[in-house]
Amino acid sequence: MLRLIMTVATVVTLLLTGVAIPPRATADVQGAAVYTTPGVHQVNGRWWKTTCEAYSSQVERCRSELWGQRAVKISNRWTVEQGWIFNNLTYRPSERRMWAGNPLATPGEHKVNGRRWLTRCDDAWTGRGGCRTMIWSTTTGVVNGRVRNVTGWVFNNIVQFSSASVPVVKPSDRAASGTTLDYEIIGHSRQGRPIEAWLVGDPKATKVSMVIGQMHGEERYNNRTAWEIIKDPRQIKGIQLWVIPTINPDGEAIGRRQNAAGVDLNGNFGVEWIPKAGHYYAGTGAWSEPETRAVRDFLTRIKPHELVSMHAPLLAVDSYQLKSRSLHDRLVRHLGLPSKYLNCRLGVCNGTMTQWINQSLPTAAITIEYGYTPSHDYYTRVARDGLVKALGGTFTIG
Ligand SMILES: [Zn+2]
Repeated sequence: MLRLIMTVATVVTLLLTGVAIPPRATADVQGAAVYTTPGVHQVNGRWWKTTCEAYSSQVERCRSELWGQRAVKISNRWTVEQGWIFNNLTYRPSERRMWAGNPLATPGEHKVNGRRWLTRCDDAWTGRGGCRTMIWSTTTGVVNGRVRNVTGWVFNNIVQFSSASVPVVKPSDRAASGTTLDYEIIGHSRQGRPIEAWLVGDPKATKVSMVIGQMHGEERYNNRTAWEIIKDPRQIKGIQLWVIPTINPDGEAIGRRQNAAGVDLNGNFGVEWIPKAGHYYAGTGAWSEPETRAVRDFLTRIKPHELVSMHAPLLAVDSYQLKSRSLHDRLVRHLGLPSKYLNCRLGVCNGTMTQWINQSLPTAAITIEYGYTPSHDYYTRVARDGLVKALGGTFTIG
């Protein structure tokens, strides 16, 4: 039997479009396809993001999110912002018998770890050959532009069963089909959230560039710019461009600098690592965090030529331990940011990501910093186009 752990993929940042109990009254073919079609796509004018990965050797699981207004607590204040809002997890078709006894595939109400779950199967809402589960939650979301707490049943996941006409979908099928996706899940955060890298440039280009949109969860605008690059319908010529919107999805979800273990990831990389406490807690040792290890392994494999790491609010292109004057100058020119020498307040940096990259890989890596409140036009358009240009790419229409 398949052993499944109940996953609550969201805690406090769900979108609430009204009080959705249940969220969708009818099975929606288009909606169901969205849940299992990997990629970032528009459906009826709204952006959806779906990423799939092996849940077990037998089961492929997809996570779908919807772009919209969400509420995030930043420095103890609720803030409304645009971003991805968890929609559901979908377990792709597997044999019904594997799910025997599992609450996610057993109709009725269940109590798991003190929380109430409600599963429905093979009915008008779920469609035949599947189950849907809701969880009883109090969620803070945005209703009519206002931050509100709403308590009720919230849609959480779908289990699909195989049948004579619906084949089993195993994780190995994706590899066997030779299908290349435009993203990779390079690792998972401490709380199990996927860390995504999206390939948006020209896969045949010889120059490989990379943008890391966010490391510190309270720095919101740089992450937005990364998504604007990924969602842009124009093609990018001249470079393969990898975009990692955030390496700290746990911090991102709650608007906090550190990861779920309280670690400032920018002190956890294995270069001149020193212990630090408090706000800049550097972890129990170099590479103690799954987030930094994921970045290390991915970068060591991809070895981009140039990389930009985005931060805030010091309004700068950083010239500390510069490896490529050319990249620095292009960033200053195309982003309109001043050059500054940022030495980590101490005169020397320890365990930072760009420091590790510059010393360990052929890559030239540079930190940039937005100010406190960049304009909407700046972080959605100016910086989007400026970053691509600075990294050697050209947008073409199409
Ligand atoms: Zn930062």
